[in-house]
Amino acid sequence: MTATAVPAIEGWFTTGDDPRLLGSRCTTCGTVSFPKATGLCRNPGCRGRELVDHELARTGTIWSYTDAQYQPPPPYLSATDPFEPFALAAVELAEDRIVVLGQVASGFGVEDLRVGAPVELVVEPQHEVDGVPQLIYRWRPTGEVAS
Ligand SMILES: [Zn+2]
Repeated sequence: MTATAVPAIEGWFTTGDDPRLLGSRCTTCGTVSFPKATGLCRNPGCRGRELVDHELARTGTIWSYTDAQYQPPPPYLSATDPFEPFALAAVELAEDRIVVLGQVASGFGVEDLRVGAPVELVVEPQHEVDGVPQLIYRWRPTGEVAS
């Protein structure tokens, strides 16, 4: 029997066919934060203290990207031993006015990425703990570059 996969980090995203990142939004200035801000708005020019839960957009465009050639420090757990480089993308979510860094979906590398290219949020298993797959969010390229 296969164990049910669980989010590697609780409370950062929903799972299922239509996963969403879980952030917060300031009711004073509208600034969206991911991961959730607590206590104070992250906008340095705002004194807002009321933050509400906010689901971020599922799709965005690549703002920047890089190749992770070295294993990140803990709590990162490599899915492979030895570590295999993966691609990282900083994705701009226009309607949320935020850039969210994340790994690129399995099967894609930096050669598949271009600044401005569309991506969507997916949730994929990263590693296992006691036989239970741990899910993380990733960005998956969805099409060609708009030129
Ligand atoms: Zn604010």
